[in-house]
Amino acid sequence: MTVPHRALESTRLKKLCFTRRYASRHLATISLVASLVLLMSAFAACARPTPLPFPIATRIATEIPAEALPSPTAEVSPTPSATLTAAATSTPAPTPTAFITPPHAVESVNIPVLMYHHLKYREPNASETLKTWSVAPDQFAAQLDYLQGRGFHTITFKQLVAFFENGAPLPTNPILLTFDDGWIDAYTVAFPELKQRGMVGNFFVPTRYADAGGELLVNWEQILEMDRAGMEFGGHTISHADLTKITLEEMRRELRDSKTKIEDKLGHPIYALSYPFGAFNPKVMAETQAAGYRAALILCCGYKQSADILFALPRIRVSYDDTLDDLASKLPP
Ligand SMILES: [Zn+2]
Repeated sequence: MTVPHRALESTRLKKLCFTRRYASRHLATISLVASLVLLMSAFAACARPTPLPFPIATRIATEIPAEALPSPTAEVSPTPSATLTAAATSTPAPTPTAFITPPHAVESVNIPVLMYHHLKYREPNASETLKTWSVAPDQFAAQLDYLQGRGFHTITFKQLVAFFENGAPLPTNPILLTFDDGWIDAYTVAFPELKQRGMVGNFFVPTRYADAGGELLVNWEQILEMDRAGMEFGGHTISHADLTKITLEEMRRELRDSKTKIEDKLGHPIYALSYPFGAFNPKVMAETQAAGYRAALILCCGYKQSADILFALPRIRVSYDDTLDDLASKLPP
């Protein structure tokens, strides 16, 4: 049975009038209750981070290998080739002509995050660890050329977070190039190669490593120079700690103090954390979020990113023996 249009309007009008009368009569009470609810919500939000998609994260965690990190004092970097260390002239980043917008809900989008550690030539007596986590400088340069040729646009984690959190557009074919640990070749190889192509790299440095600096590791002065040239830095704890194996108090200190120190040195916020050894669990993810990070990276695998895995973003490892075809096979078609 249909209700006559006029009768329906009349009913709606009565309801509206009643609501208005009720509202004005109880305005003070409603305001007080609303304020209390808002206050309690704000307190709850501060005290407890937004729940994370733990089942997804835990599944990924069980599939990843532990990162084998070389001791910072164990290996000496070879002198990088002259062509790679020559001061590069800075060219402006190409302006993308099109943008993509974030998907609704938790649909994934193809945003590869490549993972590098050392950029150095393999020495005959190099340890297995060093072999596993190195890419030759000339291969690295060729890979950058290849990515540019394919139309990829390097972005920052600041942009990625804005994309998923606020719907800020990204350039088409976005990609992130991450470099963990702050080895000196981040400064002597990656930085000039990226700069001369107008590309951006994302560097994750344990603060104690940057304090040490020297022949093996980037120091704060170099970090600042790279930051000012447009490179992005993120957290990798103070001491490259396995966050799953330390006390809650130590975990909080490793996460928070390193973030504060990098931000103090750079004079602006940082956004992402790379879990040392790729080691994480739900507790680590929650503490990372509570420490103020907006995203975090794991070691494995693939290029599908979505808002519900912002604290377990997968990466693609580039290996020493990867040809450009191998690299292509790891990227979206
Ligand atoms: Zn690391």
